[in-house]
Amino acid sequence: MSDLVLVTGASGYVAGHVIQELLGQGYRVRGTVRSAARAADVAALLPGVELVEADLGADAGWDAAVTGCRYVLHTASPFPAGVPEHEDELIRPAVDGTLRVLRAAAAAGVERVVVTSSIAAIQGGNEGRLLTEADWSDTARCDAYAKSKTLAERAAWDFAAEHPEIELAVINPGMIIGPILRAEAGTSVDGIRALLAGGMPGVPRLNFAAVDVRDLAVAHRLAMETPGAVNNRYICAGAAISFPELARILAQRYRVPTRALPDWLVRLSALVNPDARTAVRYLGRKETVSADKARHDLNWTMRPVADSVLDTADSLVRFALVPAPQPA
Ligand code: NAP
Repeated sequence: MSDLVLVTGASGYVAGHVIQELLGQGYRVRGTVRSAARAADVAALLPGVELVEADLGADAGWDAAVTGCRYVLHTASPFPAGVPEHEDELIRPAVDGTLRVLRAAAAAGVERVVVTSSIAAIQGGNEGRLLTEADWSDTARCDAYAKSKTLAERAAWDFAAEHPEIELAVINPGMIIGPILRAEAGTSVDGIRALLAGGMPGVPRLNFAAVDVRDLAVAHRLAMETPGAVNNRYICAGAAISFPELARILAQRYRVPTRALPDWLVRLSALVNPDARTAVRYLGRKETVSADKARHDLNWTMRPVADSVLDTADSLVRFALVPAPQPA
């Protein structure tokens, strides 16, 4: 039986770690990139991976990408820091791209597809209680990104219901942190980068449920290998942590502000700073999700969040993305 795995979005933060995990476990890996320009960079970073071109927005390349694969791990999806001009900029590639991948995979006889969704597909409109895989976001109460993830995951489940010949499992990660593999601070580690970069008078009281990118890579492999994972979604995220708590962890090794900024000040700054506008929505809100199902079904474990935070910081320093960090 083929041991070839296709990982979509091979240039991504998550995909890089997923590919490393798969190669380490002896799988052969093919990855998609959406432009040849990206391929050289990815090939240098992840030697041993075969790369093919395919864009979520077009049919070209997907049939060739899945040919001969036993598994497909679909991680690619637009994940921008800012708010798009129109929500369809995120929704169309997310939904149509997921369907393109699934259609090609089903036609090629792929055994199982694992889709990377998000807790954004679970939380929208459901705050204030412990959330599980039984919860779904209300798209009327989602921002464009959360809507794109919710609609893409729903489209994947609908497709799987109509195509029993293909197995589907879904991973719903929280905020992903952990070491970066190249000199790019993606959307989810940018908060840690900003703290280390200096210039912040204090820390906004934002809360999030984090997961380490290395643990998440293992979860993707387990969802691919575990027979009972089929037809299941798995939340992968730890207990809620606030930015001030995160800053205090960083302060063990780095000079960073740890004082919590008053919410009114963050709201005021959002009037002039577009980056703060997204953050305002999360002020004081607690992300409480349970990863018990992944622990139980997949035998999945998470490292302590302090290790993830400090390893993220160390990697940002290694790639010189934070200027002249001063040890505390
Ligand atoms: P990332 O580093 O931005 O990676 C996204 C990947 O998707 C990149 O390879 C990107 O290619 C690719 N992509 C975007 N639009 C595409 C298109 N139209 N056609 C083909 N490829 C396209 O983000 P990430 O953090 O690794 O995210 C990976 C997955 O995890 C996504 O599905 C995201 O929604 C999900 N997720 C992330 C977080 C988080 O905190 N990071 C949390 C929950 C879920 P380029 O390099 O060419 O742009």
